[in-house]
Amino acid sequence: MLDKSKPIFGAQYAQLPERFYGAQSAIPVADPKWIAFNPELAKQLQLNVPELAGEAGLAIFAGNQTASGTMPLAMAYSGHQFGHWNPQLGDGRALLLGDALDKSGQYFDVQLKGSGPTQYSRNGDGRTALGPVLREYVISEAMYAMGIPTTRALAAVATGEKVRRETALPGAIITRVAKSFVRVGTFQYFVAHDDKEGLKTLADFSISRHEPDLKEVEHPYIELLKRIVMRQAKLIAHWQLVGFIHGVMNTDNVSIAGETIDYGPCAFMDEYDPATVFSSIDSFGRYAYQNQPRIGQWNLSVLAQSMLPILHEDEDQALALAQDAVNGFSSQFDDAFRSGLLKKIGITEEQEGDYQLAIELLDTMKTARADFTNTFRALSNMSLPSPDIDAAQLPLTEWINNWIRHTDSGKRIDQQVMRSVNPAFIPRNHRVEAMIQAAIEGDFTLFEELMQVLATPFEDKPVHHAYTLPPEPDERVHQTFCGT
Ligand code: AMP
Ligand code: MG
Repeated sequence: MLDKSKPIFGAQYAQLPERFYGAQSAIPVADPKWIAFNPELAKQLQLNVPELAGEAGLAIFAGNQTASGTMPLAMAYSGHQFGHWNPQLGDGRALLLGDALDKSGQYFDVQLKGSGPTQYSRNGDGRTALGPVLREYVISEAMYAMGIPTTRALAAVATGEKVRRETALPGAIITRVAKSFVRVGTFQYFVAHDDKEGLKTLADFSISRHEPDLKEVEHPYIELLKRIVMRQAKLIAHWQLVGFIHGVMNTDNVSIAGETIDYGPCAFMDEYDPATVFSSIDSFGRYAYQNQPRIGQWNLSVLAQSMLPILHEDEDQALALAQDAVNGFSSQFDDAFRSGLLKKIGITEEQEGDYQLAIELLDTMKTARADFTNTFRALSNMSLPSPDIDAAQLPLTEWINNWIRHTDSGKRIDQQVMRSVNPAFIPRNHRVEAMIQAAIEGDFTLFEELMQVLATPFEDKPVHHAYTLPPEPDERVHQTFCGT
């Protein structure tokens, strides 16, 4: 049994003024059953693993029992969706349970998604189907294993209820964990309400949660903005370097903590094509792979604009400071992308012509429609300086010869570094889809297998070779859906 006297989660966000959220309980579900629990993450968060892994945890993660001492709430926020302003968003199907302090002294927030309607649900049912829950569980944990900042998955439960989408689908709830769920859209919410005090309070919360060292500096809010810009620049460079396409980079899906958040229609590219778009709702390709850096900067300019009232009393000065912070994005993104791309071809100390060489590889891959992941992994494992080039790499032969020639006969190539940044395994769309279809029919073995394969993405595992293969034409996933 749970020790009722001891709260499981803290309630930091609930201490903020009431206009920051809507307090409420989850709506109980009919017949909760475990899908997955992440004991390693629970342990890192210093939670009681045996309790949470059992009946008590199941009731909490299904929303059928409120964890002792906590005050669940739906967060208020606004946002730009596909460039269009929407003042009233907020957690329409999520509930913040509270926070947990991890072993390193960092606080994390724990949130249910799919836990029933809230005051922000508008016409939605507040629920989530099994497919999107498994997608988020698998892909967010895969991102974590690749070292990319992300929300994580603590638990997934089946609700025993159906959700109505185009058809009736099994319902599920995911419990996800983030450094915080504050978004660019949260700042926008307070500006929209002309609430300068609220903006300050939110900025102070963000500083104490994410950038505690800024408490001591002279201009904490401008420094906060610069940190957020820097973290987003690095995050999006990371995405580009593994071929990850977020799919819904709306301002309400941009985390202040610099974590990847909101795994809706996201997907990884198979063959390299910068114009790739998967999301069914992204008709104009606004969030295509190649647009992600530009959109990232646009989202940050919205944040900077929202923070203007607290950056400086003088409007012109505030504007200049904001502009300067946002301008920093390009060079920070470029630096992170450039050094990351060089590492992908084994170069850790850049010399003249190296970056040009790397760009030529991308161009060649684009023309050859080469598989993004497998090309870099094959280069990582190629015998140098005399490679054995197989048929799949044939279109790259000339580039490979240039690469070796340009790097002192390969002496400047560090393949160990390459193997640590070029994953052998990514959550390929056709594998994720097949896993979801099997789960809907009650078979979770593919889910378990995918989780296992993706837990160590930088290790070659010959027995799991099939998971490295791109889709056959009939397996190809052309579109992904939010499932909302
Ligand atoms: P998303 O596209 O998941 O970032 O969601 C955008 C907004 O729609 C957020 O305010 C969500 O909470 C809300 N939303 C999405 N799906 C649902 C649903 N099934 N029920 C209620 N609100 C939802
Ligand atoms: Mg969202």
